[in-house]
This record gives sequence, structure tokens and C-alpha cells, in this order.
Amino acid sequence: MKASQIIKLQERIGTLPDGFWGPKSILACQKHLRALMPVPARFPADGTAKFTHFYGAHGVDGGYTPPLKTITLPFTLYYEQTPVKKLAAHVQCADSLLAVFERLAVAFPTPQARQEAGILTYDGLYNPRLKRGSSTSWSMHSWATAIDFNAAKNGNKTAWPVQAVMPIEVMECFAMEGWLSAGAFWGRDAMHFQATA
Ligand SMILES: [Zn+2]
Repeated sequence: MKASQIIKLQERIGTLPDGFWGPKSILACQKHLRALMPVPARFPADGTAKFTHFYGAHGVDGGYTPPLKTITLPFTLYYEQTPVKKLAAHVQCADSLLAVFERLAVAFPTPQARQEAGILTYDGLYNPRLKRGSSTSWSMHSWATAIDFNAAKNGNKTAWPVQAVMPIEVMECFAMEGWLSAGAFWGRDAMHFQATA
């Protein structure tokens, strides 16, 4: 993001708008999003017994697939050049994902606004694989409980918000349905949103 956008972001999350994204801004941003999340939490935390009870086993390439539910989106996404009108997510978070998209449709009411926000560029949902850089820990994509947008500008090693561009308004739509935004909570991989507390 440009310095002017970081200042606007700081104003929105209620911290000193000095254009410097440090520990205070990081904390304020997480607090801002947490305050929007439903109470009690709609989803379990990653790596807990509750998580396994709620979502079951992760998928395996060529083997087990978690129970999926297909949702019809309120606007069309694009996977490279291919239009995407339906998505299949884990049955435990599919309705919630649809509710996120309905919120996005309101927050970004025009095709141009959606394009600028980067949310028309869909980069995947179900993908049974390990977390990047791990040999034991499975990615949320393995349960079909995570979705990626605009990967080219919100990479796994791209610091958010100084380099990455994912808007806070997109993160807010996810937060209101109980989803975590990687950019705000891990400071990178801002393409990624997951249905965990
Ligand atoms: Zn992801």
C-alpha cells in the first residue's frame, strides 16, 4: 500500500495515523477485526481438539476428501481467465463463506470496486497439501476451510500492509463471519482467509 493508504487504514482501525506500520498498528488492527467477530466464536482454533472434532480429517491428494458443500456466488470470480460462479467449501463453513461474499457484494457494490479490491481474482480453496515450509502441519486448504484472492499482490512472503495490497474492508467482511485474515494476523500471505478462531 502507498503511505496515504496506510494512514487511512490506521484511521480506520483507531490508531495513530503516522504512516508507520509497527507493533501498535499491528495490535490495533487485530483488535479491530477481533471486535467484529461473532461471540462465541463460530469456528475452532487451528491445531486444537475442537478443530478435529468440528472439521474432521484433512483431505489427501487422491484419497479422502472432506465433506464439501457448493455455494453459488453473488458475483463472478476469475481463476486466471476462467469465470467461477460456484465454490465448494467444507460443509461446516460453506454457508458462512456465502455470507462473506454477500457482505463483499455490499461493501464493494460495483465490478470496478471489486476489481480494485482484488477480490475478483480467485486463487484457490480446496487443495490438500502441507503448510508452506512445514513437513508435518497441514494447510487449512486441505480441509477446504481457506480461500485465497489476488495472490500476485498478496504473496506468502509479502509484508502486509506495507507491500501487500489486500484492503482492510475485505478483512472486515471475513471477520464479521468469524474468519481470520492472514495479512492482519500473520503480517504476510494477505491473499489468505480461513474459517478458524
Ligand atoms: Zn491460502
